[in-house]
Amino acid sequence: MTKYIFVTGGVVSSLGKGISASSIGKLLQARGLHVTMLKCDPYINVDPGTMNPFQHGEVYVTEDGAETDLDLGHYERFLNKEMHQSNNFTAGKVYETVIARERKGDFLGTTVQVIPHITDEIKNRFRAVSKGADVAIIEIGGTVGDIESLPFLEAARQMGMELGKDNVLYLHVTLIPYIKASEELKTKPTQHSVGKLREIGINPDVLVCRAERPISPEMKAKLSMFCSVPKESVIEAPDVDSIYEVPLVFHKQGLDEQIIMLLRLRTQSKDLESWTEVVRKLKNPKHELVIALAGKYTDYKDAYKSVNEALIHGGIANDSRVKIRFLDTTDPDIDKQLAGVHGILVPGGFGDRGIEGKIRVAQLARENKIPYFGLCLGLQIAIIEFARNVLKLSGAHSTEFDPKTRYPVIDLLPEQKTVKEMGATMRLGTYDCQVKKGSLANAAYGATMISERHRHRYEVNNKFRKLIEDAGLKATGIHVPKNLVEIVELEDHPWFLAVQFHPEFKSRPEKPHPLFVDFISAAVDRARLMESPRGAHSHA
Ligand code: GLN
Repeated sequence: MTKYIFVTGGVVSSLGKGISASSIGKLLQARGLHVTMLKCDPYINVDPGTMNPFQHGEVYVTEDGAETDLDLGHYERFLNKEMHQSNNFTAGKVYETVIARERKGDFLGTTVQVIPHITDEIKNRFRAVSKGADVAIIEIGGTVGDIESLPFLEAARQMGMELGKDNVLYLHVTLIPYIKASEELKTKPTQHSVGKLREIGINPDVLVCRAERPISPEMKAKLSMFCSVPKESVIEAPDVDSIYEVPLVFHKQGLDEQIIMLLRLRTQSKDLESWTEVVRKLKNPKHELVIALAGKYTDYKDAYKSVNEALIHGGIANDSRVKIRFLDTTDPDIDKQLAGVHGILVPGGFGDRGIEGKIRVAQLARENKIPYFGLCLGLQIAIIEFARNVLKLSGAHSTEFDPKTRYPVIDLLPEQKTVKEMGATMRLGTYDCQVKKGSLANAAYGATMISERHRHRYEVNNKFRKLIEDAGLKATGIHVPKNLVEIVELEDHPWFLAVQFHPEFKSRPEKPHPLFVDFISAAVDRARLMESPRGAHSHA
């Protein structure tokens, strides 16, 4: 029978609930348990696909093409395991299902209500995703006290009542703020937040306390008493250099032991060796590299979460610490921002802000032989740049940004031209790609057939393909059934590779993505070159 761990958040948002949940998942998985994870988002959007990353961070795409919350990225990275559509749902999706059933007549004669109809649907989804798992960790988005998350908390409460204490555990991630003026940590907000949970009928079993300063044993005793949580179950979550340290920090405090005891789980002895090795490598790099990231959301780093993490993973594989320099692509003087970089990455994106800056960055990478890695929009940018500056097709563009361009090198496929609804209608999820023998991609993957995740509408326009390839930008990866360009590589360049898919979603700390490993390796080579007396100091 599946045991459930419900993870709630208190006091403020952005406490790293997703990372706490993933870390617990990792620790239980390391004991040989089959763990699954679920994220509930209390907003009304049916999925985050139509939301601005400014509001909600990156949209994470799963193998089966679901557009999900970025916490699913943490789950996949920590557990080294695939998540699917069912591992994330929103209040909007729950209401959509219940309302569709009401229209069909499934509830004839009854008044459809939050309790029991909405909560029943939530519980059905909890159970469905947990099938076959020893432990399901269910993270409830938002902060306790929000109106929106109430039905989810109510469903979690009911599960506890139905399944009993040994089978359901409530873990509350909370903040212990540090007040500078009095130089002390304060427990009051946590007391209030736990009080709020109790009003709903949930008594937390474990408190995970985020605090900037160490929490003293006296403070733990106080939290334990006021919140009615055993002392051993008051766990500290201090700020750490890397999120990948969190499982080890929790393990040191015996959190996994506590959970195993409370849920009466039968487990094997722990095996955290490969994870510990990841953290050791992270903390002892041989090289330090600067990678320029030419995105749009420079002030909101969560918008590129998976890209950041994949770069870090590529660094781990190359004994390197990767520092990311976010470029302001709207700056007309963008050349200056590239001083001293060892590689350039243009990530995915939508909308035309900063596009010309990105094109300029691709040009500089090509001309100055700086390693270039283009992801999705980053491939489209490389093609536009090449068409304009090498093929001299002046004004070449993507029809996304210039619908009237004379040279639509990036364009919609006919089937996308008739799309009316914006939600979940892009080319989404996994597609196969045939990789050309002898290419950089072939060497990196060590394979000629690969599959990667997609999230885009536009494609390379095959009308221009021969022209582009003849001039030296080769298509080295093709989705054969539809003859779509998936990978391009530039000849006579140390490392210039761009992909129409999103490899960042498949990179994990214990299994870094081959293209990120290879890109970082090219950046290490460049760093060596720049350090050597005859090195390429000049531009960038
Ligand atoms: N805007 C581009 C498209 O829709 C690229 C999308 C992306 O980078 N994910 O094709």
